[in-house]
Amino acid sequence: MRRKLAAGNWKMNGLAAQLAEIDALVAACPAPGCDVLICPPATLLAPMAARAAGSAVAVGGQDCHRNASGAHTGEVSAEMLADAGATAVILGHSERRADHDESDAAVAAKTEAAWRAGLLAIVCVGETEAERDAGQALNVVSRQLAGSLPEGCTAANLVVAYEPVWAIGTGRTPSNDDIAEMHVHMRKELTARFGEEAAGMRLLYGGSVKPGNAAEIFGLSDVDGGLVGGASLKAADFAGIVDAAG
Ligand code: PEP
Repeated sequence: MRRKLAAGNWKMNGLAAQLAEIDALVAACPAPGCDVLICPPATLLAPMAARAAGSAVAVGGQDCHRNASGAHTGEVSAEMLADAGATAVILGHSERRADHDESDAAVAAKTEAAWRAGLLAIVCVGETEAERDAGQALNVVSRQLAGSLPEGCTAANLVVAYEPVWAIGTGRTPSNDDIAEMHVHMRKELTARFGEEAAGMRLLYGGSVKPGNAAEIFGLSDVDGGLVGGASLKAADFAGIVDAAG
């Protein structure tokens, strides 16, 4: 039985004043029926982890460098994330793939770096609108999975997030049939490569998840929770999504 995961990605949003949202989320989710994770900007990681300590809310990073330390100005390593209190890190988000030219191979190297620091890697994949319109969505995701996941993936060290690029921040979502088809497809691909271990790997859907559509999406075949952007910024919204996952 896979325990669902509700993961929030604050992206480049949040100043110290927004830490009050974490206090509210902790208060709203004293004993959630799913795992709960918030990934704030790196500047808020340590104070957020301190405020969430002892609660059911874990904190994570949004990216990490492949190296543990060194001359890489502006970068943050997986070890630094863990040192600040993170237990997980989002890798290969489509915004990083687009804005920073992150290749599948770069994402795979970062995944290994996350494991070295003891972090759960949440690896993102997903097609563009043009790729879906061309009937290539399943192929694109297969290729991303093959290139972005290193050897050694287990149910304990990996979560995959399917995030169609055209659904992120747009208010649009694929049909339920398309979401289910993709998650079943990903499970098949992961089983072909990692064997029985894949049965325990959690597969998240991401892209315009809201309190109003979360329960329906999380009830679809092989969907084990969500990766949530905009609706994770307000504790009241995210608590509704946590409820839907539990
Ligand atoms: C995301 O950026 O991972 C995301 C899913 O964003 P949103 O929920 O705002 O579409």
